[in-house]
Amino acid sequence: MADWTVRVDRSACLGCGVCLDYAPRSFAQDEDGQAVLREPPGDELDRVREAVSACPTGALQLVIGSDAE
Ligand code: SF4
Repeated sequence: MADWTVRVDRSACLGCGVCLDYAPRSFAQDEDGQAVLREPPGDELDRVREAVSACPTGALQLVIGSDAE
């Protein structure tokens, strides 16, 4: 299991889909169009980092290590 996760702040997510463009095997959109992390996420961590950085609203938080559980 990955030792990282991504938390999505649903109040900040616009549903723009940019994170899916960067890491399509790790993010999906739910029925409301908001980002959700796929389980298990399928991209390299670097791609996920790029997706987190690219989010225009800062809705994504990458958590690494024991806090990710
Ligand atoms: S890039 Fe950010 S605002 Fe856009 S869908 Fe992903 S989490 Fe939501």
